[in-house]
Amino acid sequence: MPPVTTETKNAVARAAPRAPSTWGLGDGRAIPWEYAPAPESRDVVQIRDTYGLFIGGREVMASDGATFTTVDPATEQPLAQVARATPADIDKAVAAARRAQRAVWGKLPGRERAKYLFRISRLLQERSREFAVLESMDSGKPIRESRDVDVPLAASHFWYYAGWADKLEYAFPGRVAKPLGVAAQVIPWNFPLLMLAWKIAPALAAGNTVVLKPASTTPLSALLFAEVCRQADLPPGVVNIVPGPGEIGMHLITHPGVDKVAFTGSTEIGKKIARGVAGTNKGLTLELGGKAANIVFDDAPLDQAVEGIVNGIYFNQGEVCCAGSRLLAQESIVDALVDKLKDRLATIRVGDPLDKNTDVGAINSKAQLEKITELVAAGEAEGAEMYQPACDLPERGYFFRPTLFTNVAQSHRIAQEEIFGPVLSVLTFRTPDEAVEKANNTPYGLSAGIWTDKGSRILAMVKKMKAGVVWANTFNRFDPTSPFGGYKESGFGREGGMHGLHAYVRLEDR
Ligand code: NDP
Repeated sequence: MPPVTTETKNAVARAAPRAPSTWGLGDGRAIPWEYAPAPESRDVVQIRDTYGLFIGGREVMASDGATFTTVDPATEQPLAQVARATPADIDKAVAAARRAQRAVWGKLPGRERAKYLFRISRLLQERSREFAVLESMDSGKPIRESRDVDVPLAASHFWYYAGWADKLEYAFPGRVAKPLGVAAQVIPWNFPLLMLAWKIAPALAAGNTVVLKPASTTPLSALLFAEVCRQADLPPGVVNIVPGPGEIGMHLITHPGVDKVAFTGSTEIGKKIARGVAGTNKGLTLELGGKAANIVFDDAPLDQAVEGIVNGIYFNQGEVCCAGSRLLAQESIVDALVDKLKDRLATIRVGDPLDKNTDVGAINSKAQLEKITELVAAGEAEGAEMYQPACDLPERGYFFRPTLFTNVAQSHRIAQEEIFGPVLSVLTFRTPDEAVEKANNTPYGLSAGIWTDKGSRILAMVKKMKAGVVWANTFNRFDPTSPFGGYKESGFGREGGMHGLHAYVRLEDR
């Protein structure tokens, strides 16, 4: 048999372009691959000019009539005007939630609450295309992700917690689970609808009512969800949605009428929130930032690991709290792994979030793009070596090329700080102990990934990881039955699964 040279490998690659491992030509040069545009229709969603607040089952404008603009980050064009809640509006929303909790929702048997949650889940599925398009337009995430991940997972969270609503005595055997009352929930912009579902579904299943503040750059899917609540005939006041700036979030969580606070967002604001509720008897769940290590051992299936690494950091433009933003590669395979990664990066398609071919969409906001740009510049200035594929970016909109840094030291800012963008820092290790040491060497502790052929090594590593979620030979897998949350500066409390219910109940003796 003739030896397999680079030429023959490349010839095979050209003749059989379907074999993914042979697509690349090395050094990040991919075989040109033309994709005809496949845009999802915008017509499936009717975006109104103006949206109000959702309080007590009704849409109302802010008490001072103020609005703010939400823009499409892929085009920088305004999408809609949204009512901007005032402290007086928050007071009204908390009062509506309290009334609904005392008079209706807290008194309903679990099986009745379940019916509403099942109905909401079904409506989300029925209107999934509408939600997916709206979510992609408002947030910049690719339609493939909003369609295949965000919306179905949001629907399955409501479905899953509907199942628990009449089974709380089985979730907490020997105890009586009572609702806490009114929950104040503040959510971020990276998974707007999904974070809403993570927060609202368990709260409602356990008999609480909610006042939710969406992020200012992504209020629209929460306001479409308000329509779903009305469609599902949810009693007025059980869910209230109050878009507004950060200060309004603080007014909401410190409101004396609130019994429980749940927040997902930056560690900086999480700390402020913790201070805001300190000294009260409000329950608190914080899901904050991360700087996850994705650890690849020399016995790992490298092609599979490359897909996991790409999914770990470029999924949702890297705007993911549990993103695998630090690649820890065993020294003996790092060169081969980085070559494969560069090849794979060259095939990533960056562009219009509504195009079904797009892998990486728009960064959520100008401010976030500036933060990413600044940290990437810091990486170069500190001596790390940057690689970006030569892809064209759209002329308008907040886009950033998938980026990979090698020659990264643990002290570099790009290895320490949460970038929240499509930027991967590659570090190396020699022994499993060194991998553990480096993986845990961060103020965060949300997630980690381990790639190896050995089951025993997975189990040994998992025990030593200071991370709330550890994925083995996969990354960024989510399921409503599985608890999610962090250690250290990544927050505390768990969302998802039975653990997620625990955060919304007070357990009493029988
Ligand atoms: P924030 O933490 O500021 O925003 C998250 C939510 O908190 C939004 O609804 C925001 O409202 C609200 N908020 C802001 N200030 C306050 C406050 N003082 N009191 C109560 N609520 C408040 O994140 P950013 O949008 O500023 O993003 C900054 C960085 O945070 C990112 O670069 C990323 O590193 C990290 N981040 C982490 C997330 C995660 O999932 N762990 C999610 C989002 C960001 P508003 O939108 O009106 O400002």
